Amino acid sequence: MTNPLLTAWGTPFGLPPFQAIRDADFAPAFEAGLAEARAAIAAIADSSAPPSFANTIDALELAEATLDRVSGVFYNLAGADSTEAREALMRDLAPKLSAFSSEVTNNKALFARIDALWQGRKALRLTPEQARVLDLYRQMFVRAGAQLEGDAAARLTEVKSRLAVLGTTFSQNILAEERDWFMELSEADLAGLPEFVVDTARAAGAEKGAAGPVVTLNRSLIVPFLQFSPNRELRRRAYEAWVARGANGNAQDNRGVAAEILALRAERATLLGYGSFADYKLEPEMAKTPAAVRNLLMRVWQPARAKAMADAGVLERMMEAEGIAGPLEPWDWRYYSEKRRHAEHDLDEAALKPYLSLDAMIAAQFDCAARLFHLQFTPLDAPMYHPDVRAWEVSRDGEHIAVFIGDYFARGSKRSGAWCSAMRSQRKLGGVVTPVVVNVCNFAKGTPALLSYDDARTLFHEFGHALHQMLSDVTYGFISGTSVARDFVELPSQLYEHWLEVPEVLQTHARHWKSAEPMPAEMLQRLLAAGTYDQGFATVEFIASAMVDLAFHEGPAPADPMQKQTEVLEALGMPHAIRMRHATPHFAHVFSGDGYSSGYYSYMWSEVMDADAFAAFEEAGDAFDPVTAVKLERFILSAGGSQPAEDLYVQFRGKMPGVDALLKGRGLLDPV
Ligand SMILES: [Zn+2]
Repeated sequence: MTNPLLTAWGTPFGLPPFQAIRDADFAPAFEAGLAEARAAIAAIADSSAPPSFANTIDALELAEATLDRVSGVFYNLAGADSTEAREALMRDLAPKLSAFSSEVTNNKALFARIDALWQGRKALRLTPEQARVLDLYRQMFVRAGAQLEGDAAARLTEVKSRLAVLGTTFSQNILAEERDWFMELSEADLAGLPEFVVDTARAAGAEKGAAGPVVTLNRSLIVPFLQFSPNRELRRRAYEAWVARGANGNAQDNRGVAAEILALRAERATLLGYGSFADYKLEPEMAKTPAAVRNLLMRVWQPARAKAMADAGVLERMMEAEGIAGPLEPWDWRYYSEKRRHAEHDLDEAALKPYLSLDAMIAAQFDCAARLFHLQFTPLDAPMYHPDVRAWEVSRDGEHIAVFIGDYFARGSKRSGAWCSAMRSQRKLGGVVTPVVVNVCNFAKGTPALLSYDDARTLFHEFGHALHQMLSDVTYGFISGTSVARDFVELPSQLYEHWLEVPEVLQTHARHWKSAEPMPAEMLQRLLAAGTYDQGFATVEFIASAMVDLAFHEGPAPADPMQKQTEVLEALGMPHAIRMRHATPHFAHVFSGDGYSSGYYSYMWSEVMDADAFAAFEEAGDAFDPVTAVKLERFILSAGGSQPAEDLYVQFRGKMPGVDALLKGRGLLDPV
């Protein structure tokens, strides 16, 4: 039988033939992809022809075509719809792919060709994009250890391979912890919960095979439960289970995994000649140094903490007024904060949700993209990998741009959180390749699915990433779409969230799912006015996580990361009733891979820019100002990593921004 992963896909737009692919097809397809890539790379490295850009960099760009194609499908499925077979294959692949990537960067003949091109680059008459790609290739090889010899090179390979295995272990442990835990609720325990929470809890109970409704550790269930359940003891139990993920002393305990990861990262940095892993990691980012990161975070920390402490006082008094003695605990914050929001802004999440159906918010995100970038979205009737998944064709003036896939509902087989990935990235080298882009979320499924305002923001956020992939217009896949500095990559996504706050967007699209009535003007006003509500809390839980991440990677690795976490939080003066947004044993951003290690700050770094970038539209007097939109597409959304991030931003906006737009956006300029 032929392997559908290895044959040409005669599907519309070359979508993966999901229905034909069986789990058993992946392992041989990866083997074939690796063999093909090894042969192609050997041919480049061992070529007797003198190195040219075409026979080296162009050839490298195309060497992993099959591997890219298979990985694109597999890793999306492994994250969004995992099975035991897929998890086992992921564990099996981690060291193999890591070994392959080390093999490439350790290939002396290959590096010699790249280095020769780079040394002689002035004479090569490269396009600016080619020059940038050459710089980045050389940098990637050097940072991967291409200049190391002997024992050091061998040890680095071992370290990277072990890190790949540990990263997979870390995520699989969290997935198992989230899958295993649930708390059964009696009918009496449902008192005080709005209908949407009750529905979600019943659906979760059915999925878990429980007799009745349950609370799970999925954010879209546990957060509303913590907001609305008047039962303090149940809130405490649910909250403690949520923050204990990965630290339960069982087979899925991640604390030892985290310690080993940090030690190996420190060793990796030392082998490469850096003072610390943070120095190594931040070098290619906009921030460049740990000091620059700390500087940004601490400028925001003080006003955020002051705001959070003042809010804690208000919430504690509300609690005491109910006859419950303080102190305010972390499982109390969301509950009293929701009550206060209701009292001060008369904003009731439960009353709001019927206006925020998933379908209406999808229409809103598409409509904004139509107005800004003239994109059209047409539902695509193609078989997907799960019945809940939908797809659209994206076009502009009749020209095919991309396929956009939305996989929105929580299920046990999906890892938590929300993300965007490209099953296929845009490029032009070797023929135009249009992207296939996926947004994966964990919204509670319902009939219809109703979102919280936070969920709607997440939807817009991930769609901002999707636009960065879909509008990408570069020649080289290496710098396509979101292949940019980590602290720049959240700019398009966070910027897109601003359009949800443009009043006419909700006026147009936020309609009651049953009656189609628009959201009452008063409710809309209150919703938008509440935009900065509880930002002290949100900022504190974020910065605490970012500071712990940074501290983990500066200087020698901590022998006991949990101890280090405690020290950092104490030094910060962490408010008693707020915990880190992600505690170490389930801090997937930092430990499931290298992506956000000493990089969690990136969201805030990008926020400095997104606040300022949206101000460009405000200054033009139109949230959909066509001139600004064209510049945004030209210099940011289509440009990928074709220039250093700072250069791209300055071309869009004229200069780099200060921190004030961020503080203003979070309501922290005048905090108390
Ligand atoms: Zn993001």
